[in-house]
Amino acid sequence: MHQRNTVQRKEILEVLKNTRSHPTAEWIYGEVRKIRPDISLGTVYRNLKVLRNQGKVLELHDGSKARYDGTVKPHTHFICEKCREITDLPLSGNFPSWDCLKNHRINSVHVLFYGRCPECRS
Ligand SMILES: [Zn+2]
Ligand SMILES: [Zn+2]
Repeated sequence: MHQRNTVQRKEILEVLKNTRSHPTAEWIYGEVRKIRPDISLGTVYRNLKVLRNQGKVLELHDGSKARYDGTVKPHTHFICEKCREITDLPLSGNFPSWDCLKNHRINSVHVLFYGRCPECRS
């Protein structure tokens, strides 16, 4: 049983690592089912929670649903308020201003920009 859980968790993580779309648990479920048809949505939710607690995935909230990210390297996000697409934004320079945190150790960053993507702008 434990072995099986580990394999499923690896498959879920694999699906997340292979997309840049910051999917919902339902989308991940649909993808994992292609390789493991007997998996349940509950199992996907449970494993996502474990992966999140282990720091292997990020959980974001788009205002209504939880979205998952296989990229845990610090980065920020832009979310389109119309189509809900989430785009990664690399961290660069001194944003916001790391100077005031120089004596702190930063473990993670969570910045979310809201607006309209190029397709939804007009
Ligand atoms: Zn959009
Ligand atoms: Zn991301």
